[in-house]
Amino acid sequence: MINKKFLDEQKEILLEEKRKIETRLGSFAKESEEHKGEWASNMPDFDKGTSLEEEADEVEEFGMRLALEQSMEEQLKAVDLALDKIKKGTYGICEKCGKEIPQGRLKAYPQASFCQGCQI
Ligand SMILES: [Zn+2]
Repeated sequence: MINKKFLDEQKEILLEEKRKIETRLGSFAKESEEHKGEWASNMPDFDKGTSLEEEADEVEEFGMRLALEQSMEEQLKAVDLALDKIKKGTYGICEKCGKEIPQGRLKAYPQASFCQGCQI
């Protein structure tokens, strides 16, 4: 059975993780004011006089940023979902089979939604 102490610890880890992701995201993207949790990468500044090569680098960097932003946004959603589950009292229950996820697994991956057997 998951006790309150364990839940409090997991909550702290998740909140810390959320802060970290938001700080990293904030360094190159901006959170939408209308849609909380939705982020948009800042466009790189295309300086006048940069060579085509430099522009290509910037476009490439922007593409990488978009991919990073997307994966971090997903991580952030998973963290938020886990925090929501702690609030609702459904944290640590496998979404597929309804069994408790072992605490060792939750410690290693606090935002886990599935037990080992159900993880794709
Ligand atoms: Zn399961």
